[in-house]
Amino acid sequence: MITIDLAGRNGLILGVANRRSLAWAIAERLNAAGMRLALSYAGDRLRENVEKLAEDLTDPLVLPCDVTDDEQIRGLFERIGDEMGHLDSLVHSVAFARKEDLEGTFRGTSREGWRTALEISAFSLVACMNHAAPLMGGEERGGSVVTLSYLAAERAMPNYNVMGSAKAALEHAVRQLALELGPQNVRVNALSAGPVSTLSARGIGDFNVMLKHHRERACLRRNITAGEVGDTALFLLSDLGSGVTGETIHVDAGYACLAF
Ligand code: NAD
Repeated sequence: MITIDLAGRNGLILGVANRRSLAWAIAERLNAAGMRLALSYAGDRLRENVEKLAEDLTDPLVLPCDVTDDEQIRGLFERIGDEMGHLDSLVHSVAFARKEDLEGTFRGTSREGWRTALEISAFSLVACMNHAAPLMGGEERGGSVVTLSYLAAERAMPNYNVMGSAKAALEHAVRQLALELGPQNVRVNALSAGPVSTLSARGIGDFNVMLKHHRERACLRRNITAGEVGDTALFLLSDLGSGVTGETIHVDAGYACLAF
């Protein structure tokens, strides 16, 4: 049996909103493997939620960071540097688009809607890595980054609209960051998850239809669980994933591989 021991390692997770968040499933896996975690939350409204969840973790840090604010991003990584010193893992599980841009026509996307979705869902990874990179890597210790994507980055889908454009930009950023940070032994990958019922997912028009469609067609004839996303993230964030970078791995019960 392989045991994954991440004791002595430090991780930062952006994007826990509640117990259903994919970021929380990842946090649970990393915590169980012994990693010390910092969780960041976006805005005071989520603070209490995230602090309550963090009570389940060993020696957590809970810090604010709205990724639309450069000062908050800078402040987050300054605190991480002060409190943790070295950062081994970063999980970026952040996305947002305005409700009106996740229904209706794609061609009707407004300039502001496009800017908001791409800034929060894709640029934020680039901005975070600019601050995270000096805290990560090294020949011995290395580092690993995981972000969350969706198949709409590669295919056309109803309702996903501008978020598909954002995920395409995000997956490109993963490859570009992997190239840039490879020499300091930092790996950067994306997980392209099948649909899971979370707060954000519920904002997508006809999300239940999407869930049903995946369940009926996927090779495994079921939807995935948040825990399966957590397990694959654990693999990438541990030494088991040491040869993998610049990749987007589908965790979708075998949906993306279909051509019918
Ligand atoms: P979620 O609502 O639990 O998580 C989204 C997170 O983004 C929240 O914690 C929210 O606070 C954060 N966020 C939004 N705007 C922010 C900002 N300005 N600053 C900082 N954080 C901000 O939903 P989730 O489904 O767990 O989403 C996590 C990631 O997984 C997203 O990137 C999403 O696109 C991706 N994803 C989800 C699914 C799914 O079906 N649930 C499938 C594939 C990919």
